[in-house]
Amino acid sequence: MKGEKSLFTRIIEGEIPSFKIYENEHVYSFLDINPASYGHTLVVPKEPASSLHELSPESASELGMALAKISKSILEVTGVDSYNVIQNNGSEAGQTVFHVHFHIIPKYPHSAHQLTWDSVKLDSEDASELARKISMGIV
Ligand code: 5GP
Repeated sequence: MKGEKSLFTRIIEGEIPSFKIYENEHVYSFLDINPASYGHTLVVPKEPASSLHELSPESASELGMALAKISKSILEVTGVDSYNVIQNNGSEAGQTVFHVHFHIIPKYPHSAHQLTWDSVKLDSEDASELARKISMGIV
């Protein structure tokens, strides 16, 4: 994100109103304006990175801690015991706001949203090379 503030930075700064759930030095959380289910919440780093892999280690770890705490409260308030945490990076992956955010979406027995995909069996020959390469790239 070069130049202009992202939509979520404008929300964090209070320029655009939101139903705030949580805020600390690194993280801001608020209700999604178009919820997939009752209690659908967004958790956003204040650092204005577009994709998850661009975040500083500090923001990433603060997000992880906030996600667990906020999820716990959503479960208590909504009474569900199932929920999805989703995070889209890039338009091909469904990202529409280019400022990192996690969705916490309670899953009710009647919830319409589904998160399923067609899968194939892992090719074990390819897998060992793939795992090695990815593992080597982690710094
Ligand atoms: P994405 O598709 O990028 O993963 O998710 C973006 C999310 O931001 C969507 O679920 C959308 O409903 C939510 N959203 C977009 N604009 C606003 C807004 O102005 N306020 C709030 N609270 N949520 C928004």
